[in-house]
Amino acid sequence: VTDETERALLARTPTGLYIDGRWTASEDGSRFEVVDPSTEAVVASVADAQPGDGVRALAAANAAQPSWARTPPRVRAEILRQAYELVTIRADELALLMTLEMGKPLAEAHGEVAYGAEFLRWFGEEAPRISGRYSTAPDGANRLLVTKRPVGPCLFITPWNFPLAMATRKIAPAVAAGCTMVLKPAELTPLTALLLAEILQDAGLPAGVLNVIPTTSAAAVTGPLIKDGRLRKLSFTGSTAVGQRLIADSADQVLRVSMELGGNAPFIVFEDADLDAAVEGALAAKLRNGGEACVAANRFLVHRSVASEFGRLLAERMAGVTVGRGTDPSTLLGPLIDAAAVSRVGGLVDGAVAAGANLALGGRPLDGPGYFFPPTVLTDVPAGAAILDEEIFGPVAPVVAFDTEDEAVRLANGTPYGLVCYVYTRDLDRGLRLGERLETGMLGLNTGVVSNPAAPFGGVKQSGLGREGGREGIEEYLETCYIGIADP
Ligand code: ADP
Repeated sequence: VTDETERALLARTPTGLYIDGRWTASEDGSRFEVVDPSTEAVVASVADAQPGDGVRALAAANAAQPSWARTPPRVRAEILRQAYELVTIRADELALLMTLEMGKPLAEAHGEVAYGAEFLRWFGEEAPRISGRYSTAPDGANRLLVTKRPVGPCLFITPWNFPLAMATRKIAPAVAAGCTMVLKPAELTPLTALLLAEILQDAGLPAGVLNVIPTTSAAAVTGPLIKDGRLRKLSFTGSTAVGQRLIADSADQVLRVSMELGGNAPFIVFEDADLDAAVEGALAAKLRNGGEACVAANRFLVHRSVASEFGRLLAERMAGVTVGRGTDPSTLLGPLIDAAAVSRVGGLVDGAVAAGANLALGGRPLDGPGYFFPPTVLTDVPAGAAILDEEIFGPVAPVVAFDTEDEAVRLANGTPYGLVCYVYTRDLDRGLRLGERLETGMLGLNTGVVSNPAAPFGGVKQSGLGREGGREGIEEYLETCYIGIADP
């Protein structure tokens, strides 16, 4: 990648608000800057939506809703299929844009393009399969007709860590179901969402079905929409603290809500595990997206008989990970998202060391420019260290030893979160038993990667409500309507 390629891409990436099929300025003309976290340089300036712009976007979504709901499923499906093709054709642009605004290595950005595109294809395939049922009531007197309808206009609030996939994971099922929508992308990474809007428009998505409003005033812009009777659904991906507030705000209009919130994923290695495979899986579960993922392994719970060997092997492998700007082909780990993230991750590491953990690798932020934190391994982390309770969101692996399966389950479940667990064991009974005992929405059995567009992604407890992807994903955008019919 050359500077010239970067400049040309940034020059043709849209930077306005996308409302009712048109690119517009914000109502007061304000804009905000997007920063490359690996250089701290400003890469673009984007229109900064104000509360009136949010209302305009919802009005457009609301106006488009009736005709979009009547649009044949096959037509909706073909638009999604075309969007899948266009995203795939424009993969280089989308990947580079994500690397520039978010920092992940280009190879990982390409992985996200493939993953994010697949939601468009998957839900395009689901659109024509929406269906209901016709049955006889148990007493034989009536007939029961059960049908599905689109929920109606939706608000999507997405995070910065997967700028493309978190958008397509919501947009695709909504489009398939016949819903219209307003997307508020994270202010740190608005460019990918804007380019995606252009692609969806090129794919034939009618004006008003999707509206995109980047803003630095998230609460001031989305708050009035959540209280507006025209909105019918809120889907949010982000922190548990913000999600809790949004659920409370959604009570006024009794909005349907889908919430993908925080996690504290345990990665459990039993004494009978294939240790090399476990280390391989640990690298994927820890360093994927630089650890900036809600499904990132947050705690490594390892049977005491193999804990020091596992810690040694993991530190050895993580020491070989090249840190740098994501556009450099040799980079395996990019920067964190911003300076606050660096000091937060550094604080968690310092706290663990102060509590008695052993620093086996890394531990100190790297010199700037750029928000770099090196691969870090902590062993013998004592119970009670904050790093075991908080979402790290960085390339730091704390290792804790356990003695029995019961203890591993107790530690794993000892958190308000329940998004994903990883288990390494050669004992199939144990794997399935843990699948029943662990309080989690997802389980990786001898694998460090669970995300898949064909699978229901989501958590229990304070990790969220609802599922995205899979056959379940479209249900979040469908309302059930029942018609009782007299015995014909
Ligand atoms: P993260 O830790 O991933 O930044 P956040 O929950 O802070 O998680 O942000 C996720 C998304 O939620 C972003 O788009 C952000 O702008 C938005 N957001 C943050 N606070 C609020 C709020 N009070 N109301 C609406 N959206 C919010």
